Amino acid sequence: MSHPALARDFIANRERTQWHDKALWFVREKRDRMASSVPEWELLRETASAIKQHTLSLLPDYLEQFESNAAKLGVVVHWAADAHEHNEIVLGILQQRNVRRLVKSKSMLTEECHLNPYLEQHGIEVVDTDLGERIVQLRKETPSHIVLPAIHIKKEEVGECFHEHLGTKKGASDPKYLAEAARHHLRERFCRADAGLTGVNFAIAETGGIVICTNEGNADLGVSLPKLHIACMGFEKLIPRAADLGVFLRLLARSATGQPITTYSSHFHGPPAGCELHIVIVDNGRTEIFRNPEFRRSLNCIRCGACMNTCPVYRRSGGHSYEATVPGPIGSILTPIQTPEKHSSLPFACTLCGSCTDVCPVKIDLHHQLFAMREVLDGKRLIGASKKLSMKLVSGVLSRTWLYNLLGTAARLSLRWLPRFLIYNPLNAWGRQRELPLAPKKTFRQQFAERQQKDDKR
Ligand code: SF4
Repeated sequence: MSHPALARDFIANRERTQWHDKALWFVREKRDRMASSVPEWELLRETASAIKQHTLSLLPDYLEQFESNAAKLGVVVHWAADAHEHNEIVLGILQQRNVRRLVKSKSMLTEECHLNPYLEQHGIEVVDTDLGERIVQLRKETPSHIVLPAIHIKKEEVGECFHEHLGTKKGASDPKYLAEAARHHLRERFCRADAGLTGVNFAIAETGGIVICTNEGNADLGVSLPKLHIACMGFEKLIPRAADLGVFLRLLARSATGQPITTYSSHFHGPPAGCELHIVIVDNGRTEIFRNPEFRRSLNCIRCGACMNTCPVYRRSGGHSYEATVPGPIGSILTPIQTPEKHSSLPFACTLCGSCTDVCPVKIDLHHQLFAMREVLDGKRLIGASKKLSMKLVSGVLSRTWLYNLLGTAARLSLRWLPRFLIYNPLNAWGRQRELPLAPKKTFRQQFAERQQKDDKR
C-alpha cells in the first residue's frame, strides 16, 4: 500500500495524530535547546560529516583494518552479503552453542533483516530488552520510530498490553508502575538468557572495538551475564579513529532525544576471558547505495531520528505509514533505493521544507536527495499519471508570479468569505486536518498603518 493510503488510517484518529505530533515536537524542541547550548555545534556537524565522507572514500581499507584489529582482540568477524546470510550466520552461531534463549538490545539492522521471526521459526526464544521494543514486540508490531519505537502507543495501551502479558493490574497506566513491572519481567529474562545480541553504534577501525549506546543499560546487562555476545552492524557504522568518537557521541544523544549524552556508551574491545564476541558485518544493499554518488551521503546516517522528529509529514502520519524499517526522511531515501516499486510513494511524503537537512547532525542533504529520488522514480516510470499532472499544474502556478499572486488572493478571500462549514467539514480532507485562524479582516499593511498611528498618538 502507498504511504497516503496507510497514513489515512493514522490520520483518521485525529486525537492520536495531534498527540503524536506534539510528542515528537517536544523532542525536537529539546534537541534545539541542546544544540544551541553548544557554541561549536555547527563545527561538530561539519566535522562529523567530513569524517563520514572520508571513511566512505576509503571504506574497503577501513573495513579490512577493522577486521584485522578486531581479530587481534579475539573477536570473530563474519561478513554477510544480505539479510538471509546475516540470519543464517546468527542462527549458526546460536545452534552450535545450543542457545535456546536470546536477549536482544535495540538493533535496527536486525529489524531490517527480520531476525526475530527467523530465529523464532527455528525454536529460539528472542526477547527484545529495550522497553519500547519490548512493548511493540508484545503487541506483535514493528517499531514506528528508530529511537522511540513505541512513540505511537499511549500509556493506557501499554497498561492493557502489560495486563495481558505481564499480569499487571487492569486499567493501570502509571508509567512508574508499568516501568517497574517491565523491569522485573526483563530482569528474569536477562538472568536465564544463553546469549546476548546487540546492534553497534560505532565500530572503530583503528582499535577493532565497538561502541553501543543505550539509555536503559539493557545492552550491558544482556551481554554481561551470558558467555556469548553477537553484535550486528551495517558497514556504514565504521569510523576511522578512537579520537573521532567524541564528535559523534556529542552529536548523537543531543540530536536524538535532547540529552547531553546517552546514559550508557559502552565500549567492547574483545570478549572478556572465557567468553566469545562475534561481529557480523552486513551489506544488504548498502554497496548499491555506496556506488551511487547521488545517494552515497545517506550512508552517513547515525540513526539519531532527528529528521523524523522534525518532519511535518512523519509527525502527522506515524512511522507505520512508511511500511519500512527506517521511516521518515532518511527512510524515504534508503528504502526506495532497494525496493523502488513497492516504496515509490515515500519520496513524496515530504514537503521539501528542508527542516530534516537543517537538523541532521551529519549534514545529509536530505531534502535534496528526496527530490533527486523523485527524478529517479520518474525515470523508472513509477510515478502515477495523476501525480505527474498535479506536479505539472503546481509547477505552472509557481513559475508565474502573477498567477501565484492571483490564486493566493482568491484563497485568502475564500477563507474570509466562504461559510466555514464549506471549508471545515468531514467531507473535506484538507479542512478536516486544519483549523486555520480566520483570515484577518484588514490587510497587513492596514494593520501596520493603524499601529503606527497609535504609536504616534502616544
Ligand atoms: S538522516 Fe541525519 S537526522 Fe536522520 S536519522 Fe540519520 S543522522 Fe539522524
